[in-house]
Amino acid sequence: MDDKKLAYNREEMLKLNIEALKSRGGVTIGDIAQIAYEQQRKYYPEVSLQLCVESVEKILTFRDVFHHIQFASEVDRLAEEKMFKGPIQDILYYDYGLFGLDEVLGLDVARLYGAIGQTNFGDIDVNKRGIVDKLNREGKKPGTVHTLMDDIVGSIAAAASTRVAQVMNEDAALENPHYHKVNIFEIEEEKKGK
Ligand code: MG
Repeated sequence: MDDKKLAYNREEMLKLNIEALKSRGGVTIGDIAQIAYEQQRKYYPEVSLQLCVESVEKILTFRDVFHHIQFASEVDRLAEEKMFKGPIQDILYYDYGLFGLDEVLGLDVARLYGAIGQTNFGDIDVNKRGIVDKLNREGKKPGTVHTLMDDIVGSIAAAASTRVAQVMNEDAALENPHYHKVNIFEIEEEKKGK
């Protein structure tokens, strides 16, 4: 019987991502949302934690992010179980500071939200905020590997944080008294009039 499964729908990807995050350091959507919330509260004091939670959930349904989380969690687990051969086993296991591929993967996720997503990731990566700090500290203990996971979690927080900023900006634009809602039909009518 052919039991290959390559295609996953959004609900399946969300569920599998939640499970993978939980299995590696007990990371929750709330933990990731908290980082986005703290980062955006500086710019938008009225921002809600709920918007941050919704943003993390949305990002966890993206196919690219699904592949990242599934890949990162398995690489960390295999390194923890000393399943790799050659130099990469110790490089991953001891979270060698000059490795850098974990940051490359993190930047790839953050890039889904442009240059701002990437700079937000840099802030979270350097300042080790919230759950990222916990993963990083746990990963330093013998027998626990979070080499890829701390960056993936940080990058999801950065992407969510950037989405929150975009939503807040959109809300502010809609509140502008000069705002006039234009729909596609009006634009078509205008074109015809010319
Ligand atoms: Mg790392």
